[in-house]
Amino acid sequence: MSNVPETLVFYSAFDPFDAWQAALAPHLGARVRMQEADAVTDPGSVRYALVWMPPEGFFARFPNLELVINLGAGVDRLVARDDLPDVPITRLSDPEMARMMAGYVLFAVLRHARDIPHFEAAQARREWAYRHPRPAAEITVAVLGLGELGALAATEVARQGFDTHGWATRPRELPGVVCHHGGDAVDDLLARADITVCMLPLTPRTSGLLDAGAFGRMKPGAAFVNASRGEVVDEAALADALRAGHLSGATLDVFVREPLAADSPLWSLPGVLITPHLASVALPRSAAPQIAANIRAIQQGGDLANVVSRVHGY
Ligand code: NDP
Repeated sequence: MSNVPETLVFYSAFDPFDAWQAALAPHLGARVRMQEADAVTDPGSVRYALVWMPPEGFFARFPNLELVINLGAGVDRLVARDDLPDVPITRLSDPEMARMMAGYVLFAVLRHARDIPHFEAAQARREWAYRHPRPAAEITVAVLGLGELGALAATEVARQGFDTHGWATRPRELPGVVCHHGGDAVDDLLARADITVCMLPLTPRTSGLLDAGAFGRMKPGAAFVNASRGEVVDEAALADALRAGHLSGATLDVFVREPLAADSPLWSLPGVLITPHLASVALPRSAAPQIAANIRAIQQGGDLANVVSRVHGY
């Protein structure tokens, strides 16, 4: 291994550099220094990039890049770029991040399962509107996407006793979850689910997948949760399904355009809760060891973890 100093360049408009630097410093070793993109004076020394949505042309400055690490789990914006260098791309896949997402999904499922939108609306009218609770086992939840985050979310939902089903491209086995796979399975799943949770990555195959036809196939009165990417959903079709009362409500964390426009009908449709894309976030302390391990793998010629497939887009 050579001892030439190397730079890990950091770019994010959302994440604090100081916190990531403090978390990574104990793991990186003396050879790798970490710098914010604006502070880099020797672009040739940059071997690794830890980035979240860097500006257009960002990578051209660094001719010796060997690894791009996406500062988050969703890689759709990164892999869609034309200027991505031909080096391995990895993403964060961190148990704390998965736990945070599972907490959000569980909250959203319980919100609909326990009819909370109904009680909130009744409270606004000062009305005692008793609705008998249904046992979890009688409520079917479909989790679309069983990746690092989706799988834990589905498992946590199943642990609460819900009749839990999952959907992915390949066969999966998860405790308590009935797993389905392949294009044909999804229509049946949508038709039987009381609550559908979208945990699908945004790829050319999932873009607009949940359209008017999909919402139309959902069970009357079903609820919808989206915690992955807005573009998987046709928002106008979702708004129509909610407006028509075909869907009883939705919990939405992600949108085609963020921030969600003030004039979006979704803000005020009955039973809809909007949260500003925070179901789960990258956490410096728990993600630092895997970032450093991947840098070491590049230095020593080892295997990378959490590699993104450019072909599949996730
Ligand atoms: P992964 O990339 O680990 O897994 C994706 C899952 O979706 C896999 O199970 C995959 O199937 C399945 N899938 C992909 N394409 C299809 C398809 N066409 N049909 C059926 N299933 C498909 O994703 P994660 O679970 O880690 O994360 C999911 C998404 O959550 C991220 O892509 C990101 O967009 C979003 N996210 C949102 C955050 C927020 O705060 N709201 C925070 C972090 C992430 P298979 O297993 O067969 O490959």
